[in-house]
Amino acid sequence: PRATTHMKIFPRTEFGDPILRAKAKPVPLVLVKKSGFPKLIAGMFHTMRRADGIGLAAPQIGLSYQLAVIQLAPTKHRKTLKASEKLALINPKLIRASKNKAYDWEGCLSLDGVRGKVPRHKTITVRYTDERGVAHTRTVTGFLARVFQHEIDHLNGTLYVDRMENMKTLSTITEFRKRAK
Ligand code: ZN
Repeated sequence: PRATTHMKIFPRTEFGDPILRAKAKPVPLVLVKKSGFPKLIAGMFHTMRRADGIGLAAPQIGLSYQLAVIQLAPTKHRKTLKASEKLALINPKLIRASKNKAYDWEGCLSLDGVRGKVPRHKTITVRYTDERGVAHTRTVTGFLARVFQHEIDHLNGTLYVDRMENMKTLSTITEFRKRAK
């Protein structure tokens, strides 16, 4: 914890802010090599964890760039979630998606206190660059695939409520806790 005491928590944007509706600009890869970049990534992970989140996209901290961080970990409302590695996605592109979809609850750090049931592709293949500038093509499935899709949507100005097929599932946290499992 001591190492994180000086780390920056970025102020977050909220639903209604036009930056969450804009298509984010690609990150110029020369930026990845600049000294401030690891600090930005570390600050995004820190901001995400402090908010009890498992994913955070740059537009959610007011930066309209194609950059997102993901790390699955148990949260207040998903206590059994298995921890994953830390992932930084730079300029991610969805290159394949299964026809099969799964429905599960989602929330968003930009919309406090609300959850909804969202259909997502079960398996996706994504091409992205990591925080060291290394390119990856990765196939992910299950809940991690859901989080990837949620974050990539953020970079295109799409929010999870746009993906919902049944808006009647939109619930407060209290109602969500009654209904989820
Ligand atoms: Zn979100």
